[in-house]
Amino acid sequence: MSRVDHDIVVCGGGVAGACAAALLSRSFRVALIEARKPEISLPENDFDPRVVAISPGSRAILEAAEGWPANQDDRIGPYHHMQVHSARGRIDFQASQHGLAQLGWIVEIPVLQQALWHSIENHDAVTVLAPQRIRRFDQDEHRVRIELEQGKAVRCRLLVAADGARSRLRAQAGIGVDTWHYNQKALVAHIRTEKPNRGLAWQRFTEHGPLALLPLADGRSSIVWSQSAERADRLGNWPSEQFLETLNHSQDSPFGVALECSTRHALPLIRRKAQRLTQGRLVLLGDAARTVHPLAGQGLNLGLADAAALAEVLEDRTAEADLDPALKRYQRWRSSASALTGGGIHAINELTFAPGDAGRLLLGLGFSAAGRLWPMRERFVRSACGLDSDSPRLARQTGQPRR
Ligand SMILES: Cc1cc2nc3c(=O)[nH]c(=O)nc-3n(C[C@H](O)[C@H](O)[C@H](O)COP(=O)(O)OP(=O)(O)OC[C@H]3O[C@@H](n4cnc5c(N)ncnc54)[C@H](O)[C@@H]3O)c2cc1C
Repeated sequence: MSRVDHDIVVCGGGVAGACAAALLSRSFRVALIEARKPEISLPENDFDPRVVAISPGSRAILEAAEGWPANQDDRIGPYHHMQVHSARGRIDFQASQHGLAQLGWIVEIPVLQQALWHSIENHDAVTVLAPQRIRRFDQDEHRVRIELEQGKAVRCRLLVAADGARSRLRAQAGIGVDTWHYNQKALVAHIRTEKPNRGLAWQRFTEHGPLALLPLADGRSSIVWSQSAERADRLGNWPSEQFLETLNHSQDSPFGVALECSTRHALPLIRRKAQRLTQGRLVLLGDAARTVHPLAGQGLNLGLADAAALAEVLEDRTAEADLDPALKRYQRWRSSASALTGGGIHAINELTFAPGDAGRLLLGLGFSAAGRLWPMRERFVRSACGLDSDSPRLARQTGQPRR
């Protein structure tokens, strides 16, 4: 078998893995192994159904990785205002009240992946192995030996598993996963409303589950409506007119009624939490480390913070021998971030799905009360925007992006 040496091998070239590869390549020789080389073709007059809310902290991380989509303003929906309703309670956030230009951006996942891959493929310190998979790996205290499916062997000092929610590397390492099956699905689609959505991320905790309308660059909204799996499947198969009628019963957004709707997709929702984020010289990041309910739009933001945190702990080492303490720091840091964010989101979801209206009433009262407590609002915004003191340096150090 031929042998190739790299400092770090990243397995998985989704947004989290590709971002990690780009950031790590600033200080290390990196190989990126991806099962499917992304042949990204973006719909010309439409948006991909897979969109995510990217926080200002995550945008700063992507910019540091040279993976923020340039000249794509017509595909990116900024939002400066966020409004969350439950029963009669509500909370509002305005970016300008918190010294920010925007609270976030709605971006298609393939647009992010395209920008990151463009950055990586033009970088001398990154070797891309795709399409390619890892057959098995083993490690001692200094090295990881990786056998690829096509027979090649690769040696590295650190193996990063960014191979998604059902990570094979995590399973091969025997790292356990705590799993909660919500028995819910998120129904996602893009809708056109009477009035265009110009920069408001709106959410209501409806009797069926949280419904978000997120601004797309063309004035439409992307909806994410989490609800029982059975209901999401049913609504997903209805004719558009019937679906829109039901949607309009549940949404009272300032954009008026929904008039048109794209194809709907129902995605199963599962919370997962890896019991460890490191094992020897294997590190988990992104969805391989955890998945969270989408009601707060934080899953990928956590994954990008993982990538930046890993780069930070490795760059902060003063010597090669410092790898173990650096990995311990990563494990403590990112486990506690996952537990806080994942646990908070999980608790809100449980409350809103409590039988009857009590949970949503309580949540609404909580929103209204919290809205009046300035320090709490400020803390919440800093944390949701990925700009609090626990966020990686890269998230905090870049100036606030405009637009
Ligand atoms: C309905 C919904 C709405 C969401 N909204 C938001 C949001 O608003 N904001 C937000 O931050 N997050 C959101 N998320 C979460 C977000 O989509 C995910 O967290 C994110 O896409 C995961 O990225 P990743 O790179 O970790 O994993 P993935 O995108 O799963 O990438 C894993 C990569 O690894 C590759 N791979 C897998 N196995 C192997 C192997 N054996 N060898 C080599 N390569 C392999 C795959 O081909 C893939 O490219 C949402 C999720 C859902 C379901």
